[in-house]
Amino acid sequence: MTSSSATRDGSLWIPEYLNSINPAMCIGCGRCFKVCSREVMHPYGIDEAGEMLGVCDGEDDFNGELSRVIMVIDYPGRCIGCGACARVCPKNCQTHIAVDDRAVHES
Ligand code: SF4
Ligand code: SF4
Repeated sequence: MTSSSATRDGSLWIPEYLNSINPAMCIGCGRCFKVCSREVMHPYGIDEAGEMLGVCDGEDDFNGELSRVIMVIDYPGRCIGCGACARVCPKNCQTHIAVDDRAVHES
């Protein structure tokens, strides 16, 4: 069963929760992070091998090991399914899912 509710005018509202971010496609632009009111995701540094180095504050280069920054969903339970992050992503590298609807689709 899919979770649904209503907007203030009574229209049907089905939240679509952030389900994944493709690390190979994400460019770490930070747009999703900036529009999300729930702090669901954070920028993380990775090294050349793709190993996670930790949350990236924009200053730390992790002792020279920083290769690039990607966005990571580290607090998925905070998502309210508003869809704002999907609308701003320039790489279309996120997937969203309606709760209990296991058919993941591209946003
Ligand atoms: S759907 Fe909304 S609440 Fe969920 S991660 Fe995206 S911007 Fe944040
Ligand atoms: S908006 Fe898209 S490309 Fe930019 S950091 Fe978020 S997931 Fe990555």
